[in-house]
Amino acid sequence: NLSTKLDKAFKNLKGQGSITEINVATTVKEIRRALIDADVNFKVAKEVTDEIKNKSLGQDILISVSPGQMLVKITQDELTSLMGGTQENIVLEGNPAVILIAGLQGSGKTTFTGKLASRLKKEGKSVMLAACDIYRPAAIDQLKVLGEQVGVEVYAEPENKNAVEIAQKAIAEAKAQNKKVVIVDTAGRLAVDEQMMNEIAAVKDAIQPSETLFVVDSMTGQDAVNTAKTFNDRLDFDGVVLTKLDGDTRGGAAISIRKVVEKPIKFISYGEKMDALDVFYPERMAQRVLGMGDVVSLVERAQQAFDEDEAKRINQKIRKNQFNFEDFLSQLAQIKKMGNLKDLVGMLPGVGKMMKDIDIDDDAFKPIEAIILSMTKEERENPELLDGSRRRRIAKGSGTTVQDVNKLLKQFNEMRKMMKTMNKLTGSRRGMGLSN
Ligand code: GDP
Ligand code: MG
Repeated sequence: NLSTKLDKAFKNLKGQGSITEINVATTVKEIRRALIDADVNFKVAKEVTDEIKNKSLGQDILISVSPGQMLVKITQDELTSLMGGTQENIVLEGNPAVILIAGLQGSGKTTFTGKLASRLKKEGKSVMLAACDIYRPAAIDQLKVLGEQVGVEVYAEPENKNAVEIAQKAIAEAKAQNKKVVIVDTAGRLAVDEQMMNEIAAVKDAIQPSETLFVVDSMTGQDAVNTAKTFNDRLDFDGVVLTKLDGDTRGGAAISIRKVVEKPIKFISYGEKMDALDVFYPERMAQRVLGMGDVVSLVERAQQAFDEDEAKRINQKIRKNQFNFEDFLSQLAQIKKMGNLKDLVGMLPGVGKMMKDIDIDDDAFKPIEAIILSMTKEERENPELLDGSRRRRIAKGSGTTVQDVNKLLKQFNEMRKMMKTMNKLTGSRRGMGLSN
């Protein structure tokens, strides 16, 4: 699968300290092959990988991640931005708001119509469905069954063979009943054909939807792109729904479609159950395409702030029982840079381990930091110097009380004692923290 292939690709880079022209060229070729295997259109895959190559050359490699991991991260960022970067919602305007559903037969339109109705209903909106697939008698029944299942009324006229008329009447009926949203399910053909396109275009013209969604089966791979293009040329739709992502499709079509038609993907559908629907998140899809979520988050975290050299230096000091307030301050700075304290504080050696069980929020560090900053450098390096008069001066300077200063000193001494004990337990060769 793709993940194994990328693993292989990145092996080329393992153990190398920087991203250079030569190792990137080999790796990028592998990435390109892997993307094509994941159904990304060939031309698109080439553009993506050229971009990756440009971006990766000259990048500083973080000490704590391999060049391979770094490339994964660059690739993921590139794929994410290709898919629009952020999540985009559907537009509901008008009274009622009208959503038109278009796509080939079997792409999952009717199923999606039911799912979307269920979702909007849960959001507190009143919905009506319009059955405009007039060619297959079973199509109306299928929509009725789904409507019943999710508790939404379906407007249908089994004898009427005019899709435009049915759609218009459904909207009038919804208005009369004060419904807020009408979703118009339409007919599709097995392949693009002129008559079908004329019909759906006529429906769109007549009802002026605030949102036209193109539904496409993600398993159709390369064909999905061509279909999307044809529908977009004719309908100028607003968004794409990618269905059947519950199979082992990797979703490469999402990248190609976005790139070719320049319309956002708005929903993904991943099963036959009515709740198997999600809004589309470009970042998650990029991860899916790459199949390497864990590596990516590792790179992200390392990139966020972590200075491994500093961590090693502090580890050394802990091992030699020389941990002082200067080191404490440096660790506080690192913790703050990393953002989400609760999750990340445990990653730090020394202080992290000590504070893991304490209830932490960002403000909790402020008085501590103020106290330490009020010490002289000499005092920070030699906490033994802190007698009564120095403590009073520090309390005054930091806007805290002598009790606060005493408390911190007490905690600090306990921490050092604990470090000493741990050093004895683990022996001098194994430190705490990062290297575990
Ligand atoms: P339409 O012709 O475009 O209206 O497509 P349908 O909604 O009737 O779906 C065609 C077939 O695909 C049906 O058997 C659906 O149950 C199935 N289907 C639709 N969406 C999904 C999905 O997200 N995952 C899976 N596995 N099957 C789906
Ligand atoms: Mg249908």
